[in-house]
Amino acid sequence: MFLRELDAPISRIRGAGPAASRALAETGISSVGELLCRYPRDWEDRSRRIPLKNFNQGPVCTVVKVLAHDWFGAGRMKTLKIHVEDESARAVLVCFNRPFLEKQLIPGERYRLWGRFSYKYGELQAALFEVEPVQGPTEGRGEENKKIGRILPVYPLGGDLKQGTLRRLIRRALDQYVPSLEDELPAEIILRDGLLSKGEALRAIHFPASMAELELARKTLIYEELFYLEMMAGKRALERRMGPERAVDHSRAGEFSPLQRRLLERLPFSLTPGQTGAAAEINQDMAGPYPMARLLQGDVGSGKTLVSFLAVLRAVESGGQAAIMAPTELLARQHAENAARLLEPIGVRPAFLTGNVKAAGRSRLLAALTGGEIDLAVGTHALFSKDVVYRNLRLVVVDEQHRFGVTQRQAIMAKGHTSGISPGTPDLLMMSATPIPRTLALTVFGDLDVSVIRDLPPGRKPVKTHLAKESNEAKVYDFVGRELAAGRQAYFVYPLIEANEGDLKDAVSMADRLTREIFPQYPAALIHSRVDDEEKRYIMESFRRGDIKILAATSVVEVGVDVPNANCMVIEHAERFGLSALHQLRGRVGRGTDQAYCFLIYSDRQDSAGGVLTGEGKTRLKVMLENNDGFVIAEEDLKLRGPGQIAGIEQSGYLSLGIADPVRDAAELARARTDAFAVLEKDPGLLEPEHRRIAAVLEKAPPFPAVGL
Ligand code: ADP
Ligand code: MG
Repeated sequence: MFLRELDAPISRIRGAGPAASRALAETGISSVGELLCRYPRDWEDRSRRIPLKNFNQGPVCTVVKVLAHDWFGAGRMKTLKIHVEDESARAVLVCFNRPFLEKQLIPGERYRLWGRFSYKYGELQAALFEVEPVQGPTEGRGEENKKIGRILPVYPLGGDLKQGTLRRLIRRALDQYVPSLEDELPAEIILRDGLLSKGEALRAIHFPASMAELELARKTLIYEELFYLEMMAGKRALERRMGPERAVDHSRAGEFSPLQRRLLERLPFSLTPGQTGAAAEINQDMAGPYPMARLLQGDVGSGKTLVSFLAVLRAVESGGQAAIMAPTELLARQHAENAARLLEPIGVRPAFLTGNVKAAGRSRLLAALTGGEIDLAVGTHALFSKDVVYRNLRLVVVDEQHRFGVTQRQAIMAKGHTSGISPGTPDLLMMSATPIPRTLALTVFGDLDVSVIRDLPPGRKPVKTHLAKESNEAKVYDFVGRELAAGRQAYFVYPLIEANEGDLKDAVSMADRLTREIFPQYPAALIHSRVDDEEKRYIMESFRRGDIKILAATSVVEVGVDVPNANCMVIEHAERFGLSALHQLRGRVGRGTDQAYCFLIYSDRQDSAGGVLTGEGKTRLKVMLENNDGFVIAEEDLKLRGPGQIAGIEQSGYLSLGIADPVRDAAELARARTDAFAVLEKDPGLLEPEHRRIAAVLEKAPPFPAVGL
């Protein structure tokens, strides 16, 4: 049996009563398998002897002889003192609230002792200590519960659960079930890397005989987890390639198609090397025999939209339809406008579809999509509402992909499967300006191909970033004032729409101050998530045209908005924003050829809770000050926050790893990936006898969220 199949209820464990079952259920454990996967959060090494005289090297762990009892204080405050000695020194156990120890610790007898000692009143004393009888080697029953002289697991608790209960139940479960557990890793790998068997590893992760054994158990379980993670990613990638093959179009794979060339000729600039490279990879995929599943990563402003348009042209040219999906109405509209400007003149018929398109217009539009009179649908998730039917959806582009959940991405992909004249999996292009560090990309997007645009269009100057204390904000306003006077535009960003206390600046009241007090001569507007979509659109258009000079906002301006003439970004209470948000916000400026500036204003008021610059806030601002490269910033973010917190990873439940950490265990991850992919390369169906085990484990594996599709 595999551990993941071990679904016997807790009550099957000898000695587990209903109270224990209930307490475990409260912390989410209902089966023996789940119990054994509740790994310790720490291990206390009580295996090494530390005699009394070495009390300052850590907790003492020794065997003592009881010398005498003694009492101090009087009445109810009377406290027992027990004098003990080992071969190195004498000491005193101060038994606050433990008068019963008088009967348990008998003078002349020997006991195991663990405790934290210090010198007080001229004696070596401990009030925090544990004792247990020294037992002979034959007394096995007591051995299993002994807490001194071994490495003790420390479990994460919750509810009514007690350390003692968990230790006892896990030990019994190990005894009862480990003998029937099968290895999940292939035997060659266990042998090659000198890993433990599954049973040994489980036993040792809970009750290691030595720190070296613990290390080996961890190594085994981490590797096993990563191996199957990569195995699943590899299988998904394979499955994509196992559908019916498409006709391969070798002649055109390597070059731009006629429609693509027409678009490129009309542009006032040429593609950057990064864009050219990504477009070539996409062309290869789209001409290839299997559906594309590609992640296009590029920093804000690197020109991903244009690359996706090139992909759209290829789909349209081959008689298909394309859909571009964006997370917000604002961004979808911007793409639709760009499509109308760049693609319509060369014969592509675009349409714009969001939840806001009204009934009559909507049904006309849907009919046109079904009839194939529309080549490109641009919109929000409305693109895959139930009533939307495509005639022949060949390409799906998902912009700012991390803003969508797995199910949303699946829903739009299904449109290609279920409808149209030639159902099949559409090509998928996901785009992200949240650079995903390589280590993480391998885990999270293990089944996707990745293109990266590393360069920015020529002429872009790196944004100059300045830190300013809130008390120096007037200087920042002066600076921005001079840029405004020179005809530029500015963003002012706040962490809150409206503050409930007076302490924090918020978008609403600052919009007011900006217009009345600070820059009365310039038209300003306010935008945040509660402004309705029509008004948002109107404001953004006015800002883009330059009718509005100042935009006061919350982080809604974070995503994809493109206004080249805006060259100042002022972020107030910058210490309250995450690194990825700060980077995205800063990316709103520096999209034209003028020098752009980003001011990070932090609160230096000592009196307000959270207003003081804390350690992590300070580190974030420093990272922003020193780095422009989104990939470097993402790596720093990862170090500061851990993978679960990286934008787009936690919401979608991508990573539910038990013991491995793809960042810390990056080397193991790479090895596991190589191993898993080598197996699949040799034996894609896992049919060889030596791969039966892997196939069997995968069959039992809990469904892992499909990321790409
Ligand atoms: P992002 O990758 O952040 O989505 P966009 O696609 O919005 O970036 O592009 C940012 C801006 O750069 C747009 O105004 C676009 O027209 C412009 N642009 C794209 N490619 C180039 C290029 N090769 N040379 C100059 N400007 C470009
Ligand atoms: Mg974009």
